[in-house]
Amino acid sequence: MTAAAHSIGPQGLDDDLVPPLTTLQAMAEGGRCLYCYEPACVSACPTGIDIPGFIRRIGDGNVAGAAKVILSANIMGGTCSRVCPTEILCEQACVRNTGEDRPVAIGRLQRFATDALLARGGNHPFVRAADSGKRVAVVGAGPAGLACAHRLSLQGHRVDIFEARPKPGGLN
Ligand code: SF4
Repeated sequence: MTAAAHSIGPQGLDDDLVPPLTTLQAMAEGGRCLYCYEPACVSACPTGIDIPGFIRRIGDGNVAGAAKVILSANIMGGTCSRVCPTEILCEQACVRNTGEDRPVAIGRLQRFATDALLARGGNHPFVRAADSGKRVAVVGAGPAGLACAHRLSLQGHRVDIFEARPKPGGLN
């Protein structure tokens, strides 16, 4: 597949392996979440996203809020919603596997929320703190380096990222 083969639909990239959820599908799928008190899905998430928290916001119609919950824990949440092996992480741990034999579609819900935020165009949900006067160098523009730079920027530090390759993003 070439870059030119990609197109942006109302929910984001529309040529992904798995089709995006419609709003109705997302509401219905989110409604399957039990909002577990000690959510096994969160324990299984390497980035510790508050999964029931963002699913609840989708159910409330607060999709931008859902995206902010995701991105606050993992600024790469949009990418991860497409490439993260959810079937062996959060979705494998989801208690809906017991009884219904089918987890809540956490990855697709995450994608629904982050795509919706991007589709709004330009409304970054974070605010940079006042300049701290400090300058930080980050070596490597892969996911870890970019996430680190984002967190440092939020705290008002000026960040320079050094990357040997011509394009940032690393594994992404
Ligand atoms: S384990 Fe499943 S049902 Fe429980 S909070 Fe996570 S997604 Fe919802």
